[in-house]
Amino acid sequence: MGLAMIGPLLLGKGTKEQKDYYIPRIINGDDYWCQGYSEPGAGSDLASLQCKAVREGDKYIINGTKIWTTHAHLANKIFCLVRTDNTGKKQEGITFLMLDMDQPGIKVEPILTMAQDHDFNQVVFTDAIAYVKDRIGEENEGWAVAKYLLEFERSGGVGGSKSLSDINFIKKLVSKISSQIQGDDFSSIYANKMNELEIKAKAIQYTSLRILSSLRSGESPGPESSMMKTLVTDLEQEISELTLEVIGYYGIAFQDTSLGTNEPAIGDEDYRAVAGKYQNLRATTIYGGSNEIQRNIMAKAVLGL
Ligand SMILES: Cc1cc2nc3c(=O)[nH]c(=O)nc-3n(C[C@H](O)[C@H](O)[C@H](O)COP(=O)(O)OP(=O)(O)OC[C@H]3O[C@@H](n4cnc5c(N)ncnc54)[C@H](O)[C@@H]3O)c2cc1C
Repeated sequence: MGLAMIGPLLLGKGTKEQKDYYIPRIINGDDYWCQGYSEPGAGSDLASLQCKAVREGDKYIINGTKIWTTHAHLANKIFCLVRTDNTGKKQEGITFLMLDMDQPGIKVEPILTMAQDHDFNQVVFTDAIAYVKDRIGEENEGWAVAKYLLEFERSGGVGGSKSLSDINFIKKLVSKISSQIQGDDFSSIYANKMNELEIKAKAIQYTSLRILSSLRSGESPGPESSMMKTLVTDLEQEISELTLEVIGYYGIAFQDTSLGTNEPAIGDEDYRAVAGKYQNLRATTIYGGSNEIQRNIMAKAVLGL
C-alpha cells in the first residue's frame, strides 16, 4: 500500500514537505502502510463514512471505526478518510489524513477469516491524533483525493504479467501429470483452455503497458483503472479455477500452507497452495471496490449511461 497507493498519491497530490519526508521512507520500507477507507456502515457506498475528525490547532482529533483494514496489526502508518463536515452532500466534508498507528488513541482488533488467517482488522479510534501537516489536499476536499488513490489501487501495476506466470504454472502441472499417467489426452483437454487464458492475459498486459506509458507523461490512470480491475481479477479467478480442475481431487484436502510448516504436502508439493489460492482469490472481486461497482463506474464515466 506504500509503493502502490499512498506513494503515487503523494507524488501527484502531496506537498513538497510530505514528498521529501514520506517517499524515501516508502522506498526504503521504513513505513508499512494500511488503508482506512471502509467502515461498518460504508463499503461500496464509501461516501457514507462517519469516522469523525475535529480540528484543534495543528491537530485533528479522530473518533470512529474502520473495518477490513488489511495488515493494520503490522502497519506503523495508516491513511484514512474522515468526516470533517456533515452538512452538505455526503461526498463533501470528507478529509484525507495520514497518521501513526503507534499511539494510545488507536486500538486494533483482529478479524480472523474462516481459515483462521489474520489479515483483516477493525481499527477503533478514540481521540486519536493526526497532524494538519499530514493532510493531503484541503479540508473537506478529500473525496477527490480518495478517488485518485483508488485509480492506482485498481490499476495495480502491469496487469496480466502475474497471470502469465500463473498460466505457466498450469502448463507445468499439466505436463507433469501427463507424464505420470502417460496420456496425451490429458494435455489436449487443457491445451485450448490454457491458450484462451494466455491470449486474455497478453491482451491485458499490453493494455496496462499502454496505460503506464500515458502515466509517464503525468496523466492519472482515470476510469481505465476500473476496466483493468475487472479484467485482471476475473482472469485471476478463471486461472485459479483451471488450476484447481487440473489437480482434481487433490484440491479437496486441507493443505497446510503456513510459513515454515513441516507438514508433508498431500500429493505433489506443487499442489499444496492451489486450493487455498483459489479460495483467497474470491476476495479480489470485492476489495478495492467490488467489480459490480467498477461496472457502474464504467457505465457512467466511460459510456456516459
Ligand atoms: C480481502 C479484502 C481486503 C480488504 N482490505 C481493505 C483495507 O485494507 N482497507 C479498507 O478500507 N477496506 C478493505 N476492504 C473492504 C472493501 O473495500 C469492501 O469490502 C468493498 O468495498 C465492498 O464493501 P462491503 O464489503 O461493505 O460490501 P457491500 O457494499 O455491502 O456490498 C455487498 C454486495 O452488494 C453489491 N453492491 C453494493 N452496492 C451496489 C451497487 N450500487 N450496484 C451494484 N451492486 C452493488 C456489491 O458489489 C457486493 O456484491 C477489503 C475487503 C476484502 C474482501
